[in-house]
Amino acid sequence: MDKTEMIENFNSKIKRVLISEDEIKSAIKEAAKKIDESYDGRPLLLVSILNGAFVFMADLCREITVPCEIAFMCASSYYSGTQSSGIVNITMDLKQDISGYHVIIVEDIVDTGRTLNDVVKLLRARNPLSLRVITLLDKPSRRIVDFNPDMALFEIEDRFVIGYGLDCGEMYRNLPYIAEYDETK
Ligand code: 5GP
Repeated sequence: MDKTEMIENFNSKIKRVLISEDEIKSAIKEAAKKIDESYDGRPLLLVSILNGAFVFMADLCREITVPCEIAFMCASSYYSGTQSSGIVNITMDLKQDISGYHVIIVEDIVDTGRTLNDVVKLLRARNPLSLRVITLLDKPSRRIVDFNPDMALFEIEDRFVIGYGLDCGEMYRNLPYIAEYDETK
């Protein structure tokens, strides 16, 4: 499908809402509370994996009340559409030395686990004070590598999802909820 077709079919590809805006909001509040309790008084660095996690990061960091710093890195395993390439590229790395920080990686979704497995290995080798992973969504049934996030806000079935930062062909990131993408039409 080219861009014009994608725009024409935009709404019809949104099959159903899986997780509403309100559900996301309250899960984030709860997660932020846990982070506040665990990291109070410690140097905390939130590392978001672009592009998909930018909305989750923006909402999560504003619910966290303890002092923290924000950083971004860019890792991608999906080239386009709904098929995984199986190759993880780090296209933008962190600028800072993370050895003086407790790091939390903020991710949109764990699918096969390859992306985070690689990112965690890379960051662990830089000796942070601690390293944990929070993900908005987790698809445990799709796991290929032995990786599990420390905190997952929602477990979902094997469906290709869009919205709240997650794309299909770079579209749908601006939906305020998580929806199932209709791959049939
Ligand atoms: P993994 O390396 O765990 O297979 O994949 C992680 C990345 O794949 C995510 O950060 C996300 O960009 C992409 N991904 C995995 N599942 C989905 C999905 O259902 N929808 C979208 N839009 N992206 C996904």
